[in-house]
Amino acid sequence: TIAVIGGLNMDLSVRVARLPAPGETVTGAEAVRGSGGKGGNQAVAVARLGGRARMIGMLGDDPFGAELRRNLEAEGVDVGRVGTAATATTGMALIVVQGDGENTITLSPGANAVLTAADVGGTADSGGSAGSADSADSAGFSDSADPADVLLMNLEVPFEAVLAAARGTRALRVLNAAPIPDQDISELLRVVDVLVVNETEAAALLGREVRDPRELLPLGPRTAVLTLGAGGATAATAEGTWSTDAFAVEVVDAVGAGDAFCAALAVGLGSGAGIETALRRACAAGALATTRAGAQPALPTRTEVDQLLSR
Ligand code: ADP
Repeated sequence: TIAVIGGLNMDLSVRVARLPAPGETVTGAEAVRGSGGKGGNQAVAVARLGGRARMIGMLGDDPFGAELRRNLEAEGVDVGRVGTAATATTGMALIVVQGDGENTITLSPGANAVLTAADVGGTADSGGSAGSADSADSAGFSDSADPADVLLMNLEVPFEAVLAAARGTRALRVLNAAPIPDQDISELLRVVDVLVVNETEAAALLGREVRDPRELLPLGPRTAVLTLGAGGATAATAEGTWSTDAFAVEVVDAVGAGDAFCAALAVGLGSGAGIETALRRACAAGALATTRAGAQPALPTRTEVDQLLSR
């Protein structure tokens, strides 16, 4: 089982000829609704890649929350640990896209922002000790019998909740440090087994340009993975470094590539693959995600990854 903790959003997109200026109203095309959030994307990607996905997150008590929950279930994601907040609305991303692809995104974290340490502590596996049963119950979490093999984390939910989940599990801890944290996450990095970042996130963590994942190891992770877009990805441990070229594909949009990459890496490592094998599968999944538009609709299946690898 791969437990995923992170953000759950309803994405609302409208195409316009030209982005509105402040104070201006612009009429666009029909609004398109889609399941999103890095947590939801990564959980769905895990399920499509053949892993057992368990989502840990928070939705609002509203129609969008109910729709996101149904969509996760339809993808085969275990939603027993997705709570429903009584006092917050479901997270939303308001996306306006101009003809040339230029866009603005307004994010309303909503229920994602009220996920607490008490809600998730020790819930990544049932053997954890950090959680409080009372608050977990009142937040709507149910118990689960099987412990997770991997805890995949991103930073679209409060840092304290992520830290509690990391501390409350014996699973392999994989952190995708995205979006770029607005606070010091060094405490979390010290308990993380595998850190996954793109070049922008790596630069934010170290305060300088990062070319080599070995530079990230002093922050605490045993394995550091740096994704390089069309340059593929490279990983480092104290024992060595591994690089994988990107797969040559026809790119439609890069949305979802990072989430597919992280999910495939987690599934690979969770099934006992070595870093080199997991890295190759992750690059294949990332490449496939760029060949289709959008986030969740673009996430590849295990069969598609196998086919690209054997091409
Ligand atoms: P993010 O989406 O988080 O910014 P990247 O752009 O580095 O992350 O993409 C994640 C992974 O997806 C890359 O390591 C690579 O394997 C794959 N990928 C991204 N863009 C391309 C591309 N243009 N062609 C092939 N693979 C890509």
